[in-house]
Amino acid sequence: MKEMTIFDLIEEDNSGAAGEKEFARMKELVKTLNEAAFAYYVEDREIMSNFEYDKLYDELTALEKSTGTVLPDSPTKSAGAGYRAVSKLTKSTHEYPALSLDKTKDRYSLSGWLGGMDGVLSWKLDGLTVVLTYEHGKLEKAVTRGNGFTGEDVTHNVVHFGGVPRVIGFRGKLIIRGEAVMKYADFAKVNRLLPETEAKYKNPRNLASATVRLLDSREAAGRPVTVCAFDLVYIDDPSAIRGSNSKNAQLEWLEKQGFTVVPHVLVTPLTVLSELENFERALPDNEFPTDGLVLILDDEAYGRSLGSTGKFPRSGIAFKWQDETVESVIRHVEWSASRTGLLNPVAVFDPVEIEGTTVSRASVHNVSIARGLKLGEGSRVSVYKANLIIPQIAETVESTGETYVPEKCPVCGAPTSIRENDGIETLYCDDPDCPAKHVGRFTHFVSRDAINIVGLSEATLETFIDAGFIRRFADLYRLERFRDEIVTLDGFGEKSYENLAAAVEASRNVRFSALLNAVGIPGIGKDMAKQISRYLGENAYDRFTREISEKIDFSVIDGVGAVINDNIYAWSGNEEKYAEFTELAGELNISDDVSAMQAAAADSGIAGKTFVITGGLNGFENRDQLVAFIEARGGKVSGSISSKTDYLINNDVNSGSGKNKKAKELGVPIISEADFMALCGE
Ligand SMILES: [Zn+2]
Repeated sequence: MKEMTIFDLIEEDNSGAAGEKEFARMKELVKTLNEAAFAYYVEDREIMSNFEYDKLYDELTALEKSTGTVLPDSPTKSAGAGYRAVSKLTKSTHEYPALSLDKTKDRYSLSGWLGGMDGVLSWKLDGLTVVLTYEHGKLEKAVTRGNGFTGEDVTHNVVHFGGVPRVIGFRGKLIIRGEAVMKYADFAKVNRLLPETEAKYKNPRNLASATVRLLDSREAAGRPVTVCAFDLVYIDDPSAIRGSNSKNAQLEWLEKQGFTVVPHVLVTPLTVLSELENFERALPDNEFPTDGLVLILDDEAYGRSLGSTGKFPRSGIAFKWQDETVESVIRHVEWSASRTGLLNPVAVFDPVEIEGTTVSRASVHNVSIARGLKLGEGSRVSVYKANLIIPQIAETVESTGETYVPEKCPVCGAPTSIRENDGIETLYCDDPDCPAKHVGRFTHFVSRDAINIVGLSEATLETFIDAGFIRRFADLYRLERFRDEIVTLDGFGEKSYENLAAAVEASRNVRFSALLNAVGIPGIGKDMAKQISRYLGENAYDRFTREISEKIDFSVIDGVGAVINDNIYAWSGNEEKYAEFTELAGELNISDDVSAMQAAAADSGIAGKTFVITGGLNGFENRDQLVAFIEARGGKVSGSISSKTDYLINNDVNSGSGKNKKAKELGVPIISEADFMALCGE
């Protein structure tokens, strides 16, 4: 085979003096990068990490420099890579191209970059850029950035977003750019509320971007998106702004017009570094997702006079945090199940210290990415924290083999299946009864009448389940293992963690009936659990487990029928479920309902009395609270009035309600809350 020479290449591609190897590599890089950019910007899906993208991009740039060759469709040539707008939205051409900025990771270069001038330093928000045009004081048009030259008309949605005034005081023509973003907390909320059938979004940027481009603006209006203005592109009457040549003055003027403006600060070459550090300190508490910082020259005319480097305007630069990468060794890949049956791969590696915290786990997103990384046990990987926050695997330094993808669900053992969507493969558990799917199970478990973990919301539970922190009830009492990860979760911090940990600790002291209610045996709610607990008497937990092992018939208990008895044995006969229960019990200090009640009842005036409650309450927050109060003192509460009723509690003592009439007929005293408290001696 004849080897191609450099001259053959030039003839064939007319693309400059690249060696064959370099040329092939460049071609490959261009293709890969363009595919990734198209997926990322246009289709809202991520087929490679930002880290990987940047790395390949840098490699391509270096090759282009060393060979003096730039391929026709190289992403380094166009602002935002070779993609175009798709979908049914109307295309719209930008009057002023929306170019992207050159970037640096070197904070010490920023002072010199300013060249003695002042600059404006701001967050680089991570969402979707939209260009807003105002005329006669009204929002005329909102267009996505698209490829920088042509975007999509999304006016119908943008008018509903926060930060976008529909009418402004300025009556001339105004064009601004803003970033449509969603707060981390709102992201979690919206994602959770999406129907099961809809794909969940991976990060706030995906969700904000998808929302901006929805076809139905009613749907968009229901989602909390904010547009943060970051650049004034054009104003037909600059004299409207005092000091209009200053980018900082422009942003302040936009704020007065009613726009939400990106947080920013005026800097000098002397202050830029310390201001950058201020942003850095604020990063963990930032409610909006960011992707670094932007530094632009404050003097607009001067900035414009510098022109552009072909692709990047010279008037601004983006700063990205240098990701500190640390090497570690893969222990295994864990597949944690979520409510939808989706199994999320999490790489577990030897704990390493990055940016001040210990990290030992990182999501590897889906089967495609997990397989691509080849994370065999013992593989050496480099790990970093994206935006200093979220642990990620940067790359596999040395692989020992393929990533383990389980054929059976790690939670329930049912067969798994791989589903493909848009070229991305994901793993699912196919069993509809997979316990991992039962967020509802945990929601009930932590509720007030059950184990009662105050402040642990369904959203948090779902996050914990998705992340693999909890699978079995007892896992809630071992959250300490994941402390470092939990404190970095969206909407979580040290304080929330401490609160949660305290609530979990408090829940260890539990009545047997609450525990029995919590574990979710079909048909056994809080009332049935109390019946059983009372029957069991002292040392209720020990007696319960003993009776089960001796196959005692529970239907002898008042109110417990054959069905409930069968349910108890079906549940305890399921080894996994019963083991979960006994494992949980090992974490708890279980007290008896009976002894506590007897003690309280001994000196209460209502022991053995039966009450019916009707109407609104004043002193008690709700009826459940009053019921609990009565029961704790040895009294009983019934739903309807009969000859066995001792008192009807009704604050409207003289009302003509049905219950009052019935009480009068049967000679049952009607008492108010205050009378009741007096009766109790309290
Ligand atoms: Zn399963």
